[in-house]
Amino acid sequence: MLRNDQLAEWDRENFFHPSTHLAQFARGEQCNRVIRGGEGVYIEDRDGTRMLDAFAGLYCVNIGYGRQEVAEAIAEQARELAYYHAYVGHSTEASITLSKMILDRAPANMSKVYFGLSGSDANETNIKLVWYYNNVLGRPEKKKIISRWRGYHGSGLMTGSLTGLELFHKKFDLPLEQVIHTDAPYYFRRQNLEQTEAQFVESCVASLEELIEQEGADTIAAFIGEPVLGTGGIVPPPTGYWEAIQAVLKKHDILLIADEVVTGFGRLGSMFGSDHYGIEPDIITIAKGLTSAYAPLSGSIVSKNVWKVLELGTDEFGPIGHGWTYSAHPIGAAAGVANLRLIDQFDLVTNAKDTGAYFNATLKEALSDLPIVGDVRGEGILAAVEFVRDKDTRQFFDASEKVGPQIAAALLQRSKVIGRAMPQGDILGFAPPLCLSRQEADLIVGAARDAISDVA
Ligand code: PLP
Repeated sequence: MLRNDQLAEWDRENFFHPSTHLAQFARGEQCNRVIRGGEGVYIEDRDGTRMLDAFAGLYCVNIGYGRQEVAEAIAEQARELAYYHAYVGHSTEASITLSKMILDRAPANMSKVYFGLSGSDANETNIKLVWYYNNVLGRPEKKKIISRWRGYHGSGLMTGSLTGLELFHKKFDLPLEQVIHTDAPYYFRRQNLEQTEAQFVESCVASLEELIEQEGADTIAAFIGEPVLGTGGIVPPPTGYWEAIQAVLKKHDILLIADEVVTGFGRLGSMFGSDHYGIEPDIITIAKGLTSAYAPLSGSIVSKNVWKVLELGTDEFGPIGHGWTYSAHPIGAAAGVANLRLIDQFDLVTNAKDTGAYFNATLKEALSDLPIVGDVRGEGILAAVEFVRDKDTRQFFDASEKVGPQIAAALLQRSKVIGRAMPQGDILGFAPPLCLSRQEADLIVGAARDAISDVA
């Protein structure tokens, strides 16, 4: 085994880490933590430090770490057939089985699943599909995509543009022209604190209507949104939001893409966020929880309506010119099948609902009185704590104070609990594996209170 100092040196010298301050890392000013194992909700680094991962990696290890059933399924698939492509009608038993399992769980109006590797590439696929859809229907002008400020849809060229977070745009010259952003349904951060939730929903709808009017509905192809805003701050929508937004989209014949990369397969205590909020999407993006990240795999689930048009298109224009070498990779598909079986076997969606409700309630009760805690919110087994300088005015801390990152660091240092300092604003996010127990939830809550009290 390599020595830790040797590994750290190689890491600094050779490894280009994503979403990392490259210069600080190269100077050795940032952690380089080498993770070597995991079991349940815990991971362990090379020094033997055991940490409760209350963010499930990047909200993806939904079944928890170390599930041998999935490891076995992957090994068996690799031994039997590590790879064959899915072009021109090829498949494997695993990819066919998984597509059926997904459709059995998806909302009723869904028809087929296209497999990718990551949430980002699935959303790139989705945008191409809605453009293709409108071309087949003879509407070449109907191409713009509405996304929301604070939405996160990936880091690709188009998906980086869809993402409504400044960090992911800064200095990249992304092709933003096709993307228009509308308001985030972020009630806690509404401009007018007098507004009720219902009035706030009305104002979100009014600004969407205004945007559509301004751009022209005949230039807009689709609206993309996460059922619960994730990376933008873990913000559940206000009551009635999705119903009202869908009515506007229907009126203007604008397709709805539900980005369920985080919410798919149980995180909200329902199989899909679309079921949870009564959303009827035309396309659903899935990734993360599809394999619980045991292997990279994503998907675009398309509705019957969209599928019909895609079929028409190929009759007219020939085979669809969109494919990845690794689409429906057998190892990812085998991991997906084993993962979905475990979710059923241990009824993890119900656990996410019950333990999630307990976790959210205890978090709110334990933290709300702290002087810098402005908001404690969540849905299912997803939660966020937002910090403010002033509780009444909701004044922000200066970004330079890095209150969110400081609290996440204190949480880890003091209690060996991993939460995530969300990339915009002072927000500490929690998205533990769906198998979390009440005792583990209590541990996270106690640790969060200690860490916040340490910092302020
Ligand atoms: N969509 C949502 C809602 C996400 O949260 C993410 C990643 O966090 C993505 C898309 C992008 O997925 P990936 O990082 O697998 O490309």
